[in-house]
Amino acid sequence: MNIHDSERVAGLLEREGWVESEPEAADAVILITCCVRDSAERKLYGKLSELRAVKDKTGALIAVGGCLAQKEGEGLRRRAPYVDLVFGTHQYPAIPLLLSQAAQGAVTSISMEGPALRDLPCKRREGFRSWVAITNGCDNLCSYCVVPRVRGEERSRPMHEIVEEVGRHVADGVREVNLLGQNVNSYRRKEEGKSRFADLLRSLGSAYPRVWFRFTTSHPKDFDLEVMRAVADTPGVCEYVHLPLQAGSDRVLEAMNRGYGREEYLEKARSLREVVEGAALSTDIIVGFPGEREKDFQATLEMVELCRFEAAFTFIFNPRPGTPAALLEDDVPPEVKRERMQRLTGLTRLLTARALQAEVGKEREALVHGPSHRDPGFWTARTRRNFPLHFQRGSQDLTGRFVRVRVTGAGSWSLRGVLLGVID
Ligand code: SAM
Ligand code: SF4
Repeated sequence: MNIHDSERVAGLLEREGWVESEPEAADAVILITCCVRDSAERKLYGKLSELRAVKDKTGALIAVGGCLAQKEGEGLRRRAPYVDLVFGTHQYPAIPLLLSQAAQGAVTSISMEGPALRDLPCKRREGFRSWVAITNGCDNLCSYCVVPRVRGEERSRPMHEIVEEVGRHVADGVREVNLLGQNVNSYRRKEEGKSRFADLLRSLGSAYPRVWFRFTTSHPKDFDLEVMRAVADTPGVCEYVHLPLQAGSDRVLEAMNRGYGREEYLEKARSLREVVEGAALSTDIIVGFPGEREKDFQATLEMVELCRFEAAFTFIFNPRPGTPAALLEDDVPPEVKRERMQRLTGLTRLLTARALQAEVGKEREALVHGPSHRDPGFWTARTRRNFPLHFQRGSQDLTGRFVRVRVTGAGSWSLRGVLLGVID
């Protein structure tokens, strides 16, 4: 979501005649921030003190936008008084105006009643892949999470508007569209009394049959058979679902206010693999939530084994000010959190390595992202199941092309293959 926000800010400014440049040559440096964990927060203040030196030399304006700016408001300028503009998650359309105001004197603009976020121009970082926000905000109240406080109420964009926006991307040559929302499965839920995310997937798939679609994030409580069937029936929708589990114990899930229990999650994971042939499943897990006992953690490990996740993103619980969980006693000692994290990642790595190994010998379709950073003699691509895949480069530029590859080897995080042909 933050990448997409940055693309929108860049698009708006470009429309107003601004040109992207390195910080040392810039009139303004804009940082778009995250505040989900305090590591992102620490990074921001580190970066700001670097930029202060740049500002001293060049006089550039420094602007901080996005989630952390929304959360901190004026407080951000108290910590870093040389920041000229603080703007929240609803202020992106006003960025050109805010920058010109900030040139006259410091501005903080964090009203959640800002102008509509729809139809903003977007300067995409990649020509072949795009992000499209289908909802903004979040109505869930997971007890550890700061997102609803900084992104506001959930609002779904009208379906026709999304279909049109995707059409513009496709006309520009985009091959893969990533639909974004904090909880994509509740798309339109409030307005129309039932989930319409499945309808959106089907409409997009039939309007743009040669495009790949991915979506994130799915919330397990709203991920239902209707969506699974839409994934299965729509050839353009990749068979990959990111479904954050967060914890494997019912007691902890309840304390997290997630709205589902382990049996319900397990049932959905099983149905997904039944309904969508070859579906890959990834997840997020938090360890060391307040009150998490060894028994609860064991339940998480057990769930991870039962669900056979292809990939997992793991986090140590981090109390975020203003969230209900921050008021609970953070009673799992840091060394226990670290030790649990190690056990968890030991298991998730093993499952990922096994899943990668199972790909060897298969023919797979993949979208080429560009030359590999690590090994420029190779292309880096992603398969439909979202595995990174590398294969040898020839003379033809394959960036943004769909290819057919035979998988010949697997490492800890990625696949190797040989090119069989360019599909498109
Ligand atoms: N809406 C998505 C969801 O429900 O999964 C994404 C939420 S958040 C931006 C991404 C992940 O960060 C969450 O799934 C969770 O695992 C992790 N996270 C959020 N708050 C956290 C906290 N206070 N401490 C540790 N991890 C956290
Ligand atoms: Fe945060 Fe929960 Fe909303 Fe995800 S669904 S953004 S974890 S409150």
